[in-house]
Amino acid sequence: CGIVGYVGDRLSQDILLGGLGRLEYRGYDSAGIAVVDGEGQLHHRKRAGKLQVLRDDLAETPLPDGNIGIGHTRWATHGAPTDANAHPHLADDGKLAVVHNGIIENFTALRAELLADGVTLLSETDTEVAAHLLGREYRKVGNLEQAFRNVVTRLDGAFSLVAVHQDQPDVIVAARLNSPLVIGLGEGENFLGSDVAAFVEHTQKAIAVGQAQMVVVRKESVEITTFDGQPAEGEAFDVDWDAAA
Ligand code: GLU
Repeated sequence: CGIVGYVGDRLSQDILLGGLGRLEYRGYDSAGIAVVDGEGQLHHRKRAGKLQVLRDDLAETPLPDGNIGIGHTRWATHGAPTDANAHPHLADDGKLAVVHNGIIENFTALRAELLADGVTLLSETDTEVAAHLLGREYRKVGNLEQAFRNVVTRLDGAFSLVAVHQDQPDVIVAARLNSPLVIGLGEGENFLGSDVAAFVEHTQKAIAVGQAQMVVVRKESVEITTFDGQPAEGEAFDVDWDAAA
């Protein structure tokens, strides 16, 4: 339901939780975050219930923090609101995390393919298949952008899909189809959101990612392409503070 992403020099957890707080108005039943720490280790925490449940959990047992991360508030479509079904979902090697808004319509077929290949699924969500497909593709091609490109074209339905991999701790890759995705441009840092509320307290400069576009976000750069890798442009705009408040 709500997505936030951050890459820059600041610690990501507060920024992610702040963004998720701003997205609360959308309604949700669970929340979670994933961060890659300075040692290149992926960590995540996800909890059913209000954002406060996640906040309290993190306050009691903090995650090691880093400068890159993704967060999600979930509105369950496939699988009950439980900790296991909350996002982020991880690939089975634990190195890649994904958050997703929307519905992957062909997930039953993809799920059957993964099960036949011996993958253990930990949730009932449509989203988890994307995490495993991306993780497996990454092991083949060794690059998150290329893995993403190869996987998104296999997904039908609606998605804003955002991923990080611990072996590329400087990059967030995202794509969208029939579901919104916005980039927030900072100084030496960049943001992603399902809408501008995710980052409005940090920057007013935004780019709406176009339909069937993919984006590679680093702290100093944003690169938009079509799914098949052609250079593309989103729609740049300035956030209207009144509208976003
Ligand atoms: N279909 C996904 C799920 O049920 C994502 C729902 C959402 O957009 O929050 O987990």
